[in-house]
Amino acid sequence: MGNKRLVAVAVVCVSVMSTLGSPVLAEKSKNEQTKLESEKKTLEEEARKQDQEVQQLEQKLDDHYKQMTEQASLLAGTEYKLELQEKKVKNLLRSMYTENYLYPLTQLFDANNLNDFIERYDFTMFFLNEQQRAVEELKETKQVAQEKKKKLADLGEKQDQVLKETQQKQDELEKKIAQLGKDIRTLKETEDQTELNEQDRTLIAPHDKVAKGSGQYTWPVGGGGTITDTFGTRGGSHKGLDIAAPPKTPILAADSGVVSMVSSGGGYGNCIIISHGGGIQTRYAHISSGTILVKPGQSVSRGQQIAGVGNTGNVRGARGGYHLHFEVMINGVATNPSRYISR
Ligand SMILES: [Zn+2]
Repeated sequence: MGNKRLVAVAVVCVSVMSTLGSPVLAEKSKNEQTKLESEKKTLEEEARKQDQEVQQLEQKLDDHYKQMTEQASLLAGTEYKLELQEKKVKNLLRSMYTENYLYPLTQLFDANNLNDFIERYDFTMFFLNEQQRAVEELKETKQVAQEKKKKLADLGEKQDQVLKETQQKQDELEKKIAQLGKDIRTLKETEDQTELNEQDRTLIAPHDKVAKGSGQYTWPVGGGGTITDTFGTRGGSHKGLDIAAPPKTPILAADSGVVSMVSSGGGYGNCIIISHGGGIQTRYAHISSGTILVKPGQSVSRGQQIAGVGNTGNVRGARGGYHLHFEVMINGVATNPSRYISR
């Protein structure tokens, strides 16, 4: 059983340590912490959504830039075609005049007959109209392309703006989240400190009124029991000595003094604290319900039974986790009980 049980009891005692202090204060602080945590979660969710939005916007922007590039090359092509077409028309017109191909008005009237005139006139007009139409068409295409290009440029600008604003918002959100995280950490630290202070006050206050103990300490479990965990284990968080013993085994006052606290609930379960004067106190935790024999303010003598071993509070481990968690505190600070007691 040895190691397994030892570890289990150590786990228990770590959880006991973390639930110390004023329950009301801890509850309040915990609520605030939960609130902050949920606020942080909401903000993080918002940030994730914004991230997605930014990605979508960037994709859209990319598409638009592509379209703009296409449009620009289309426009360049149109302009080139237009230039060619205009040159062609000019050349044609020039050659028509020089080669007498285009029939000037005078020559039209020189036509041999009306049919000839009409034929020449129709041909000329048709040719000119066709050319004109091609030029107009090209001009139109050019205008449409230009308008489209401008529209795309405007859109791109607008999207750039939105992107910028979204990123700003995102930055602010991230800052907020970081600040919240910091607040939560500070709150946790404050809570720990407050718990410590609360503990100090409740434990140290009665000392002045307490008659001094003998300074000789006796083993607090009748019949001895088995040590399952020592002081300072679990990364230093275990503040006492765990002595396993069968249910209701007598728990004895380690020295004479005055009972300064009898409490129940929380990680310690049923718990007694005895003040021995000179800033020294002993704590007895996980007491079996209905076995407490003393009241606050009552004087006790060394070796007097004050309660029975139990498994109340946070205990786990072999055989129901029955054990005494025994602490020695000097001015409210837990110290190694092995310096004061031995079997
Ligand atoms: Zn313990």
